Amino acid sequence: MRLQAGVASDVGLVRQTNEDSYLVRRGLYAVCDGMGGARAGEIASEMACRGLMDLDPATIDRQALTETVEGINRSIAAQSAQEADLAGMGTTLTALVAGQRRLLVVHVGDSRAYLLRKGALQQVTEDHSWVGEMMRRGELTPAEAAVHPHRSVITKALGTEYEVLPDVMELDAEVGDRWLLCSDGLTGMVGDGIIERELGENDDPQTAAGQLVKAALAAGGEDNVTVVVVFFGPDDGTAAAHDVDEVLLGPVDRGSSSLADGVRSAAFRSVRGMGAAARGRIGAHLGTSAGRARRGVSSDPEQAAAASDEVPTTTSVDAEEVEEAETARATAPAAAPSASVASGAVASSVTLSPTGEQGKKRRRRWLIIAAVVVVILLVAVGGFAVFNSSVYYVGTYEGSVALYHGLPVSILGLRLSSVIEQGTVTYESLPPYIQERIDTRDLTTKEEGQRFLRSLSADQ
Ligand code: CA
Repeated sequence: MRLQAGVASDVGLVRQTNEDSYLVRRGLYAVCDGMGGARAGEIASEMACRGLMDLDPATIDRQALTETVEGINRSIAAQSAQEADLAGMGTTLTALVAGQRRLLVVHVGDSRAYLLRKGALQQVTEDHSWVGEMMRRGELTPAEAAVHPHRSVITKALGTEYEVLPDVMELDAEVGDRWLLCSDGLTGMVGDGIIERELGENDDPQTAAGQLVKAALAAGGEDNVTVVVVFFGPDDGTAAAHDVDEVLLGPVDRGSSSLADGVRSAAFRSVRGMGAAARGRIGAHLGTSAGRARRGVSSDPEQAAAASDEVPTTTSVDAEEVEEAETARATAPAAAPSASVASGAVASSVTLSPTGEQGKKRRRRWLIIAAVVVVILLVAVGGFAVFNSSVYYVGTYEGSVALYHGLPVSILGLRLSSVIEQGTVTYESLPPYIQERIDTRDLTTKEEGQRFLRSLSADQ
């Protein structure tokens, strides 16, 4: 069979940057839709595509493909835990691998694979999304799901947990089959009718890909849109079995022109030189995900043994970082209580009033010690105050989701945080997936917190 592929990707009409990535290589096609603050989404989606690049479609089997995707997942999760600016990043991955005799589809998230065979379109993948699961349980109709406020909430992604179970399907290929891989920027904008028409009516896969992206933009282009189209034609003996012998990894233009790469490397630089506040953020993040990773590894010894090349390394690094992180978290809130104990000591020492020359010396020594203690205290309290004023977290206030300034703790009955922005969305109205995220009280930046609040109200 002769494979021909077309690919198109666009930032859309609303977003600033394109966080989708695609991979087109001889027999190997993938679409990944990244998510996360700043530039984290595009880094996650690109990491996922790069992770597939060295696969050999001719020899890969189900098991090896699953393990490859599990490995990609761990790499993204580890990267996310190491860099404060990448914390919480993730990506979908939907890939088609065309070997000699069989096809493999691997899938995590809410990007999709469609097959047009003999004029009939079928969605091959199931969305790992909250509305997708509600639909499968019969609690939502497709029409309700299409306009549901939480339709963009996904329940499975690469990089957000240390363990992931991708869907892998093995299918046959027929001459005339037309495949589409796409991000939800297409399927959220256009219905299956348009997809079926563009796949069926265009005789060139590149034209079909371009037409599909155009249709998504014409419908509003609310999200990044990426499509890969693959046509399975008869092998006429004159052409190579595949039309692409090169590797296409993109998009090259991510929306904000060449700024993209500059900003990205600047982000990495700033992470390296980050201060205590940023380390605190990493700590808060690691505390949850690395903890899960350790549980995951110990609860499944078979899997741990199977992946013994990688798991122990990841785990030991994480354990170290978790310790560091826990120290960081323990130090900050502990500063105030120890300060109050110490000031009690100062007060009692200053009231000592011995007499004579020796008494004067002792008094002077005590005064010097007291002065040193006071200076140390001021520096400690001041440092803690600066740290506290640089962190934010998302919590709830009177039932609504709200952005807090400060640490999510109280010391001696004194709250160290206050509400700076109250959202319009109630905690109860959110799906458990989002509620869990709020419950963790992970530290964040002001911008990130505000963006999260906005994303919730935009969904309403
Ligand atoms: Ca998307």
